[in-house]
Amino acid sequence: MEGGNPVAPPGARTAADVVTPELVARLTRGLTGSGTTVSHTPFTGRKLADLPESGPEDVAAAFGRAREAQRAWAAVPVRERAAVLLRFHDLVLARQSEVLDLIQVETGKARLHAHEEVQAVAVAARHYGRKAPAYLRPKGHTGVVPTLTKVTELRQPRGVVGQISPWNYPFELSVGDALPALVAGNTVVTKPDTETALTALWARELLIEAGLPAPVWQIVLGEGPVVGPAVVAHADYVSFTGSTRTGREVAEGAAARLVGCSLELGGKNAMLVLHDADVEKAAAGAVRGCFSSAGQLCISIERLYVHESVADAFVERFVARARAMRLGTGLAYGADMGSLVSGRQLETVTRHVEEAVAKGATVLAGGRPRPDIGPLFYEPTVLEGVEAPMAVCAEETFGPVVSVYRFRDEDEAVALANATPYGLNASVWTRDGRRGRALAARLRAGTVNVNEAYAAAYGSAQSPMGGMGDSGLGRRHGSEGILKYTESQTVAQQRIMPLAPSFGMTDEKYAEFMTRSLRALKALRLR
Ligand code: NAD
Repeated sequence: MEGGNPVAPPGARTAADVVTPELVARLTRGLTGSGTTVSHTPFTGRKLADLPESGPEDVAAAFGRAREAQRAWAAVPVRERAAVLLRFHDLVLARQSEVLDLIQVETGKARLHAHEEVQAVAVAARHYGRKAPAYLRPKGHTGVVPTLTKVTELRQPRGVVGQISPWNYPFELSVGDALPALVAGNTVVTKPDTETALTALWARELLIEAGLPAPVWQIVLGEGPVVGPAVVAHADYVSFTGSTRTGREVAEGAAARLVGCSLELGGKNAMLVLHDADVEKAAAGAVRGCFSSAGQLCISIERLYVHESVADAFVERFVARARAMRLGTGLAYGADMGSLVSGRQLETVTRHVEEAVAKGATVLAGGRPRPDIGPLFYEPTVLEGVEAPMAVCAEETFGPVVSVYRFRDEDEAVALANATPYGLNASVWTRDGRRGRALAARLRAGTVNVNEAYAAAYGSAQSPMGGMGDSGLGRRHGSEGILKYTESQTVAQQRIMPLAPSFGMTDEKYAEFMTRSLRALKALRLR
């Protein structure tokens, strides 16, 4: 069947088996709210849970609790804070089936794609659990007059970090991103997307089980345009992941308060298949790159540039693979792709494809919603003949839709890939690793994967990940991903003599002494 075969195991567990009233009561215990908000499962559209909806006063109270807890948490030795992350790592892997179920029922994604989140969280917990003490260690620097001036750079936590996260990777983009802020000695107030709040609440429960004091990580729920600005209004630093449009508003709010922010935003990511690529591997990689989490992944591929000499061979293989994908709602491994998350996503995907077709694009695979599988399912879709006036050409679709273009030489491919205000992720396929890495450096994207679509760079948590241009500000992962949650503080101790005329020196003698010293320091090659 073109575009996917339903996988609906008879008698299988459903969302109602996963999200029981007891689980909701347990996870939301202690959350305050003046109203109630309802979450749904994309698999069927049915209600999942009633959740307390925070108002601005609940957000203020959560910040109050977090602020009260911050000093004591920052006083816990960094190795003890890091040990919480390492215990959390083990708990996540041991209890993964619980969170895989929750991610699936809240986002509608296939289990294999939900497991990417388990992997990403484990990697972040291990990395910062092991490396945080080194990242945060005080550093000695050369003083103005070496030996007379002893200088140490300290890393102080910012205080209470406000975190706003989207629905598409609710485990990784809530707790995965909170871990470096917490281990750096901050407390955190997170506003997850309401539709995926249970995953974040489950993560908080597990982190407390791993040893995190409960007040250190607060969660508030509610409408983005109401609760989001309230978080920005109280935070000492804002960590935002979401759309470029909302990111600009968050940056304006942070700027008005003179607090820092990092923004992980949208993308229109390109994959380049060079003339010497292994087309079979590239086609399999493109399926992962374009259709993981039904394309609702900030770093997924929406533009595919293929060298004309291999284009026919690549497209034939890629289209065959896309058509063979199995769509499904099962809470088990087996489906190749799940559902879109919301009616809004389905509307955008449908509009982009229909408009492109009306303006002359050709559908090579997919191109239809699949209400027979679930209300928000859409087939993995490959388009050709897409041109500039079509929305799908330049706008982020954030769905299982990719456009294929052909190029003649690598300069043209680089120019085409870079012709976007976004700059999040890119991918290059070639049998020549050196050529691939050289081409990667010419692409304007925060991460570039050679012979993989996105997972190689994202999974390498020691290296920074984030966006250039409209794709964001700041980075997650590596030293940048933790140091952004700190303020540097320089402590300089002056010894033996002051930085002023002393021991009876005249001003003139002191000026001479300093001039000689400066010349000597340069001759000694001191920095
Ligand atoms: P969104 O911007 O609509 O929402 C993101 C979060 O912001 C949600 O929690 C939402 O409730 C909240 N929000 C909404 N209005 C707000 C406001 N005025 N002030 C403060 N917060 C507000 O984005 P989305 O549709 O949920 O997520 C999809 C987008 O996120 C895509 O563009 C995708 O590319 C991007 N994304 C980026 C990354 C990355 O790492 N670069 C990762 C995942 C998703």
